[in-house]
Amino acid sequence: MEKMSETLVEVKDLKIHFFTDEGVVRAVDGIDLDVKRGKTLALVGESGCGKSVACRSFLQIVHSPGRIVSGEILYTRKNENGQGEVVDIARLNPHGRRIRSIRGKEIAMIFQEPMTSLSPMYTVGNQITETIRLHTEATKQEAWQMAIDLLDKVDIPKPDRLVEEYPFRLSGGMRQRAMIAMALSCNPTMLIADEPTTALDVTTQANILDLMLDLQQQYHMTLLFITHDLGVVAEIADEVAVMYLGKIVEKSDVNTIFNEPKHPYTQALLRSIPKIAVTREELDPIKGMVPNPYRRPGGCPFHPRCAKAMAECRTVVPAVTQLNDNHTVQCLLYEDLVGEKAMEQAK
Ligand code: SF4
Repeated sequence: MEKMSETLVEVKDLKIHFFTDEGVVRAVDGIDLDVKRGKTLALVGESGCGKSVACRSFLQIVHSPGRIVSGEILYTRKNENGQGEVVDIARLNPHGRRIRSIRGKEIAMIFQEPMTSLSPMYTVGNQITETIRLHTEATKQEAWQMAIDLLDKVDIPKPDRLVEEYPFRLSGGMRQRAMIAMALSCNPTMLIADEPTTALDVTTQANILDLMLDLQQQYHMTLLFITHDLGVVAEIADEVAVMYLGKIVEKSDVNTIFNEPKHPYTQALLRSIPKIAVTREELDPIKGMVPNPYRRPGGCPFHPRCAKAMAECRTVVPAVTQLNDNHTVQCLLYEDLVGEKAMEQAK
């Protein structure tokens, strides 16, 4: 049997721009990313940093006036003959047959607020069976039974009754479970979860996270988890990519990110997590706001908020520095360091 590559999706220099009357917004500004098969990658950053747009491009569902302007999204899949093939999703027609065979079937997505993706006009059962029948040969009755089984799997009580309910009759937690059931209906290879627990209370949030980890093991799924909550990242992720203003500023495994963060933005994000033992005065929020996307700062985009900014940070755009096999950072503080280290080794 042909062995599939360890990397499920490889993103290379991906750029997604929004062309508006006010100007061009570079929502995703040249990112590189490896999503490993069967692992959980967390994409972290404040609102407006481009993480959701980047992930929507994996399904070719970037809203107009946004579009992929360059770069590659190389997805390794099995074709109809069971052989491995690499598809560049960035090149696929958003309305074409190929992306429709991937979207929802091989790569599924769940959203922050399920009411935006579940229709209030149809029952939960109708919406789950629609996905199943679109991608499989199941009959109406078989699909209906599959919907009940899926609702049972996501711990919804009395699934045979709930399947007939409309989404607006369910609580936030139940709606999110129904959304997860819908996303799992075709046993996807990869699940993209866009802040799926943000709108929920902490108890429901913990339950949903446990459920997702459990289902990931059962289905051997790859999970791409978008969040601004580092507490969630610590619980769920294997690898972490930190985004700021359309760029990935730091990337490594979860232990390195929490124990040896290098980028000043990652360090500031970690410092700003509230701790139970800390009094209110000791909270250390990141100063300033994410800049207006139409007026991006020159040089390093983080320089107006960075406690370690130097004069050259205003004009020089940092390159990606490879600190070791599994740790990259985009900050001028490390560019010389690596150069000096290499010179020392060369002596
Ligand atoms: Fe801060 Fe300069 Fe590094 Fe940017 S390049 S994160 S401004 S030190």
